[in-house]
Amino acid sequence: MPSLPLRFSKRVTAPGDLPPTAPGGELVLFGRSNVGKSSLLNALAKTAVARTSKDPGCTTAMTIYALETRPKGWVIDFPGYGYARRSKQVRHEFSIMIEGYVACARPSARVALLIDARRGLMSVDQQWLDHCEGADLPLSVIATKIDKIKGAARTRILAELAAVAASYKVADEKVLPVSARTGEGLDAVRRWFLRGL
Ligand code: GDP
Repeated sequence: MPSLPLRFSKRVTAPGDLPPTAPGGELVLFGRSNVGKSSLLNALAKTAVARTSKDPGCTTAMTIYALETRPKGWVIDFPGYGYARRSKQVRHEFSIMIEGYVACARPSARVALLIDARRGLMSVDQQWLDHCEGADLPLSVIATKIDKIKGAARTRILAELAAVAASYKVADEKVLPVSARTGEGLDAVRRWFLRGL
């Protein structure tokens, strides 16, 4: 499958500064710091469109990418949350940013919640599932770094995540396992991005 036509557009810090909604819809990426979001975007685009960093605390704004399909869409990459070394104030600002986005109910938005397959769902992830459920925002769970986990452990974590997804009416029960490192699952995630176009 061809790479996703993603192009960096800009960074914004307030939901009010987001661009007008696009006819191709809007894909929102949530996930803990270090979950592998930047690596995944780069793998999907087959180019270094997103910055990856060894310092998981460095991104402090929503990063907007244009999905240059016809019709055009947006990808909104939220700052990674749950980074313990961040100050309480910064964590609070992040919560306000994410809650502000969810509350402004942009039409045709879909959310990808990225979960590190080695770590599973954490309470901070659950919080965003609850927000999406409250706002009726359709959501899919993407299990990242799937290359790191094999055999029975892999089956168990995917089943656990699917059970969590099944308990939310907004969530797609089908969990998408992916590895930016080996390329496993990238095409399924690309299809998720392009769904409905
Ligand atoms: P972000 O903070 O969510 O943007 O995470 P990054 O994309 O910067 O990745 C965080 C760390 O996880 C880096 O050290 C990456 O090399 C590593 N990583 C990302 N994706 C994968 C993957 O699919 N497999 C493995 N094994 N490591 C990954």
